Amino acid sequence: MILDYRTLLISLGVSAICLLVTLTGTWLARRRDGFLLTWACGLGFIVPGIFSYTYYTEYPRPVIGAVCTSLMLTGFATIFAAAVQFCRNEPPLRRAVAWSTIAIAFTTAPLLGGYDGLGFISLNAWAAFLLFCTAWQYWDARAEAVGPLVGMALLYAMTGVSFVLCGGVLVADGSWVLGHAPDNWAENLNIAVSIGGMTGVGAMSLLVHQARLTEFHRREAQTDSLTGLFNRRALFELHEKQTFTREMAVMVLDIDRFKSINDEYGHAAGDEVIRVLAAELKDAVGISTAARLGGEEFAAVLRTAAPGYAEWLAERIRRNFAERETLSETNSIRATVSVGIAYASQGRQDFESMLSAADGALYVAKRNGRNRVELAPDAVAANAPKARTIR
Ligand code: GH3
Ligand code: MG
Ligand code: MG
Repeated sequence: MILDYRTLLISLGVSAICLLVTLTGTWLARRRDGFLLTWACGLGFIVPGIFSYTYYTEYPRPVIGAVCTSLMLTGFATIFAAAVQFCRNEPPLRRAVAWSTIAIAFTTAPLLGGYDGLGFISLNAWAAFLLFCTAWQYWDARAEAVGPLVGMALLYAMTGVSFVLCGGVLVADGSWVLGHAPDNWAENLNIAVSIGGMTGVGAMSLLVHQARLTEFHRREAQTDSLTGLFNRRALFELHEKQTFTREMAVMVLDIDRFKSINDEYGHAAGDEVIRVLAAELKDAVGISTAARLGGEEFAAVLRTAAPGYAEWLAERIRRNFAERETLSETNSIRATVSVGIAYASQGRQDFESMLSAADGALYVAKRNGRNRVELAPDAVAANAPKARTIR
């Protein structure tokens, strides 16, 4: 042996502390990622678990054995709970408590009852099980950031396998009673793999964190903060290079006499009215992109609209919005919206011309008295005198 067992254990403890510090630091910078804190808590159990186990290798008293195995199992259960929190956003406490209680019961009973070998077999089996469960969570969530998440799944699985080997050696040797800490090739391998796993997982976790942060900023740059819909820039990014086919339509909406709503009820109430129309657009079935163009103007793209569907949907949105009351602090406000629609047609297949045709129809709706839906004439019949009134 180049390094003795105890030195390896201490290195493992130190790398666990490093990961604990990294995770806590990352969590402090981004507190909404609660799983980082859960994960750090898991390591907060593992670290004293490793050091008390180091002590146990020298003074193998059953109580010390029970303490160190309980700390480690609580750590593994908490790390598993953190993985579920990461992947499925489920609260971690109950899961961590439940799994650690079961694993501790199975492990400490034989340890305290004089069958320490059996206790360590149980420790290895539960550790492997919890690590495989953790690996599965990251594997299942790999779509979010393939490289680092698959890497994490493999590292957890590999560490799990090294625990299986430890348990396997004890079973194969029939070591039900040991009187000291298990000491064989599998134990050394387990610690070496754990050190590698811990370091690798630390690096991968930073990459996953980075990927999440990048995605968060990308989304934020695309989102209108008042309504949560796409903003103008995102709408253009998504559609400006698209070729529009016959079943596609663009809708432009503008709230009627919005200036007077602002003047009469205040800007905050006006904002609330904007949110109410945004909610109508979010609820509408068939809209593939809804965006706030600015002020009280919105645009929506329909990717597959049967003939007449866009008009039907716009009419429904118009009616629902007119019926809804927006409650401000002191008032109940009713507002209406005008809508212009353009279907793609020959000579009108790019986003700019779709938007401008829908805008033209909106202008006609305003001129014809507001609170109505108008359809842009077919592009080929561009010299048709007027947009067609739906209502
Ligand atoms: P029309 O029926 O012709 O559309 O009349 P309008 O009063 O709605 O006219 P216009 O569309 O030009 O008015 C837009 C107003 O929206 C002007 C501006 O003060 C207000 N506005 C723009 N952005 C915001 C916003 O974010 N919040 C609020 N409350 N008002 C806004
Ligand atoms: Mg307006
Ligand atoms: Mg306007």
